[in-house]
Amino acid sequence: MKRLAVAIAILTAGCASRPEAFRVSGFEPDELEQLQSAADEWCNATGGAYCPSLSGGENTVELVPELSNGAGARYALTGGKGRVWIADRSDNADWLRLLRRSFLHELGHNAGCRSHGPDGTVMAEAEGSEPDHLTASDVQCANQ
Ligand SMILES: [Zn+2]
Repeated sequence: MKRLAVAIAILTAGCASRPEAFRVSGFEPDELEQLQSAADEWCNATGGAYCPSLSGGENTVELVPELSNGAGARYALTGGKGRVWIADRSDNADWLRLLRRSFLHELGHNAGCRSHGPDGTVMAEAEGSEPDHLTASDVQCANQ
């Protein structure tokens, strides 16, 4: 019985091919709460297959004053490590919601979703019209 448990543990570890842990910088506690909420949503939506964490990882997520192209957020995968930049729009009354939605989107890229999704999905490119929660299309994109 113990041997079986070990075999299952190894199989599970083998599935974790995506970098999932992020080091965070620049965020306030209420903002970190939103980032964690987005990470938890991915974990739940994928049945535990993709569970980003916000501590001690090789990936990074940074709050920056602004992005050069004027976007709200950006993702890059370099050397196998995911980097997320989120523009500080805390002067917006809806900031915490926007922040959560932006991170939800960028986590989708980190999960393996390389292209943008159709309108009405979290992975849609159009900023501002995305839903607050993952759709079946978003989860499918990340699983490709
Ligand atoms: Zn995107």
